[in-house]
Amino acid sequence: MERFNVKKNSKQAIAKCLERPIQKSADIMNLVKPIVEKVQNEGNKALLELTAKFDRVTLEDPVLFAPYPESMMQITPDIKKAIDISFENIRIFHEAQNQKDTLTVETCPGVKCSRFARPIEKVGCYIPGGTAVLPSTTLMLSVPALVAGCKEIVFASPPGKDGKLTPEVVYVAHKVGAKCIVLAGGAQAVAAMAYGTETIPKVDKIMGPGNQFVTAAKMLVSNDSNAMCAIDMPAGPSEVLVIADKFADPDFVASDLLSQAEHGIDSQVILITVGMTREEIDKIDVAVHEQALVLPRVDIVRQCIAHSYTIEVDTYEEAFKMSNDYAPEHLILQIEDAESYVDKVDHAGSIFVGSYSPESCGDYSSGTNHTLPTYGYARMYSGVNTATFQKFITSQVVTPLGLQSIGKAVMDLAEVEGLDAHRNAVKIRMEKLGYI
Ligand code: NAD
Repeated sequence: MERFNVKKNSKQAIAKCLERPIQKSADIMNLVKPIVEKVQNEGNKALLELTAKFDRVTLEDPVLFAPYPESMMQITPDIKKAIDISFENIRIFHEAQNQKDTLTVETCPGVKCSRFARPIEKVGCYIPGGTAVLPSTTLMLSVPALVAGCKEIVFASPPGKDGKLTPEVVYVAHKVGAKCIVLAGGAQAVAAMAYGTETIPKVDKIMGPGNQFVTAAKMLVSNDSNAMCAIDMPAGPSEVLVIADKFADPDFVASDLLSQAEHGIDSQVILITVGMTREEIDKIDVAVHEQALVLPRVDIVRQCIAHSYTIEVDTYEEAFKMSNDYAPEHLILQIEDAESYVDKVDHAGSIFVGSYSPESCGDYSSGTNHTLPTYGYARMYSGVNTATFQKFITSQVVTPLGLQSIGKAVMDLAEVEGLDAHRNAVKIRMEKLGYI
């Protein structure tokens, strides 16, 4: 990987390595808008046409409803066990996040404020399937939906070249009780879930990662009041930033860099080395080369590594400052006493701490969610979690004592804002209570 050194290279050169490729959102929006409108206007007919056009698959029906036939869920016992283990760990971790208890606070005498969660009723889970089929994303989206108590779960995923769905996806749909699976990908699938069609139910919120067409369509429908559909976050091409020091095993570091690079040529891979010698970094490069050669997706890896960088810094402070500025989707810490550095992380989607915590564990089975903010959005967005599938309602009970506590403040502020009816709603009560 091309190397940069904070002492030898200019600040601008280092900043350039950490730049993400510019997303031409206007161009993509222009492409996606007619697709979304076509599905909105023509429903299933448009969906079938667009699947034929972009996925080169001719289907008769774009949706499969539960109960799903056994024949569509034929998976090996090992894969079934792997899904079941991952399902359970994701369920446990997301159940622990489930805020079931009502939060109640008496803010002042006689004023009781509460907040409680309610599930979003109908949710759509987009499972990418263009370059790789991702049953793991199926788990990451639908298990939290199940935990949150969503009443209707709809899946969408592009069909394979044979027009069929991946059996693992169908198995997970069956396990979480998904109502149906839309056999479509890209902007057209997002539109189908956002507006509904003659057979596909409209959802209230769409979750899940995807390529630029998926992300643009999600943005578009979330801005359309006719759709009345929320989205989780903009989750685009995957990225990793690894911080390593001389205690890191070069083979482990290389394996983590490559597991990101194989996602796609648009993936971003950054390695920050802290106080490492040239020879120590050479060992990582050699390991990257050797491990890459035997990977089936070596061509994708090669193109990705061509725009991946190693940045040499002297101190952990510099490394974490750089990482926080970049706000990576995945942050891997392969440094001595890694756990003690977690406090230094201000911006990241998910952190993998220490030599034996590869990103792969979080991608599949440990329990944390792998649908995470990319492109620097980790500065202000969280990854998918149980609350993504919920909304929070607040309530309050104000007693006569409470009105005595805050009534004057409310009336004074309403007066400042010139909202007399607001002021009167308190005044009328205060007068009847004999407070004024
Ligand atoms: P995808 O399912 O997102 O997109 C495939 C669909 O795009 C196809 O079904 C097709 O209908 C549509 N499409 C293709 N070419 C088109 C065109 N020219 N015009 C209009 N529509 C077109 O699958 P993908 O392409 O493999 O992308 C998946 C993305 O998701 C990757 O970038 C991956 O890195 C990312 N991802 C992110 C996360 C995360 O948490 N951030 C997790 C998993 C995957």
